[in-house]
Formats: sequence, C-alpha cells, structure tokens
Amino acid sequence: MLKKLLNQATIELTIEAQGPLLIKSGIEGGADPSVPDMRFVRSGGSVYIPGSSLKGVFRSYAEKIARTVGARCCNLFDDTFCGKQLEKQSNGGTIYQQSCRICRVFGSTAAASHIKFNDAYPPSGQNPQTETRTGVAIDRVLGSVAHGPFDFEVVTQAKFTTAIHLRNFELWQLGLIALVLRDLAEGLIPIGFGKSRGLGEVKATVGKFSVRYVGQPDASLPNPTQTVYGLGALAGAEREAYGLQANDTITLEHAGEADAEELLGVRVTFGAEAQKEIFRKCVNERWKAVVQHDRNR
Ligand SMILES: [Zn+2]
Repeated sequence: MLKKLLNQATIELTIEAQGPLLIKSGIEGGADPSVPDMRFVRSGGSVYIPGSSLKGVFRSYAEKIARTVGARCCNLFDDTFCGKQLEKQSNGGTIYQQSCRICRVFGSTAAASHIKFNDAYPPSGQNPQTETRTGVAIDRVLGSVAHGPFDFEVVTQAKFTTAIHLRNFELWQLGLIALVLRDLAEGLIPIGFGKSRGLGEVKATVGKFSVRYVGQPDASLPNPTQTVYGLGALAGAEREAYGLQANDTITLEHAGEADAEELLGVRVTFGAEAQKEIFRKCVNERWKAVVQHDRNR
C-alpha cells in the first residue's frame, strides 16, 4: 500500500465478559476451525487477549458479512485466496485493486494489513476474577471422552481495553468495521472454543474515536472537524493506481474537536454522537456503494 501514512482512525474498545470465558492453558484441539477463537491468555500474573486473536475474530465476522451481502470475499483455505491469486504480482496498486474486500482491510500473504489490534488488557487495578474447573474433551465423531479429565481456568468477571487502528483507510473499510463492532456490541458474535462448552459471552463498547491526518497541507483538508477524509480523497497522484474514489468523504452534523497538540498534522477526536454518525454514514454512504459495485461486477 502507499508507503506514506495519510490517515489513521483509532477506535478504543472495552470488551467485557458476560459469563465465564475459557483461558487458554495446555489444552489444545477440539476447537472448531470455522468459528474464530477469542483467546484469553494467561501470562505470568495477568490475563489478556492477544491482538492477533481479536484480528482473527474480526476478520472472520467481516467475511461473514461480506458473503451475506454479496461483496467480494475470497476463501483463505482454497485457491480463491487473494494471497495465492496475487502471489506473482508485484505492483502494489494492482494487488490492492485485485484483492477482495476482506484482504484490502486485513491483508493477505500478498498485501499488508490496514488494520492493527492492540493486545487487550484489564484496566489498571482491575484484575479479572478467575476460577479453575474440571472437564473432559468429547470426541466429535465418536462421542466418547477423547482425553481428560483436565483442569481449565475460566475468567468469570473481567473487562479488557484495547485500541483498533485503521491506517490509510477508505471510508467503506471503516463502515465494514463499524458493522462488526455493532454486532459485537450486541453480543452477537460467536466466540470459538469456549462457546462450545457453554462458555464465551462477550460484549464490546466503543470508547474514544479519533482520526488523524498526517503530512497534509491544511488547505487540502477543509473543515476536518466536520468532514471525514478517506484514503481516496487524500491519495493524490496515486489515486488511480490504487483504484480509489476521489469522493471518499462524508460530512457531519456533529463536529469533532481538533487537537492543538498535534504537530505533524491534524488529529480530530469525536464524541459519542459524532462517532455514531460517522459509523452510520460510512456504512450507508460508502460500504453500501462498494457492495453495489461488487454485485454488478
Ligand atoms: Zn481476499
């Protein structure tokens, strides 16, 4: 993708356990590969969710959304995978244009990811409550006890905070992530391994939301507190090579606040109302347009 960073959205997120959640111990296997596993890992004294595990959950749910509405979406496990299709391609613009919607956000073996998830940790001073349970693994085919009994640790009450960063993003990409966040907020996203044991309810709440523009002359970003600029609006000469849309902007009724401390560009922080408006408009005005485009291909 473009070497220079042009825009970056940061979404702060709180993830809360609604019931007991399995913490990864020595037990592997038995996991259903079709359902992503949001792993809770114990490392020393603390329990956390690795960012890579969150990314897997988001990717898998975004794929489900894309397939449901008819947006372009490859399959990681067969020859349609963009990483396979584009392995001989070296032009960054061509790779981006020919990648499916999911690989354009989450990356593939051919293209870098535009999204990064920080590891999710409990807020300082709030240690999760955990307990140890005993169980057995049931063989899925034979219905017999495959191994066990073994002890496993669950977290019974916990809050984790993290941040998601979208770099050099088009507004439809923010719309797609907004759809995943909406269902995560409503507790609709199935969580793997733990879920199959009757464990694994989580709910997520979006916190602070900000957009940062780097290295842009002020004149090219009119009214950044009431406009959100996607990559297409910022890419300039490289727009065509990447197949981006110049009209990649939305305008807002609820203004954000520009951060005077930002030296390298502009950072705008949006309150809850503005954030909801941005997510809604990125879905309705930008994500729906690319879905329509993909359906007409
Ligand atoms: Zn793909």
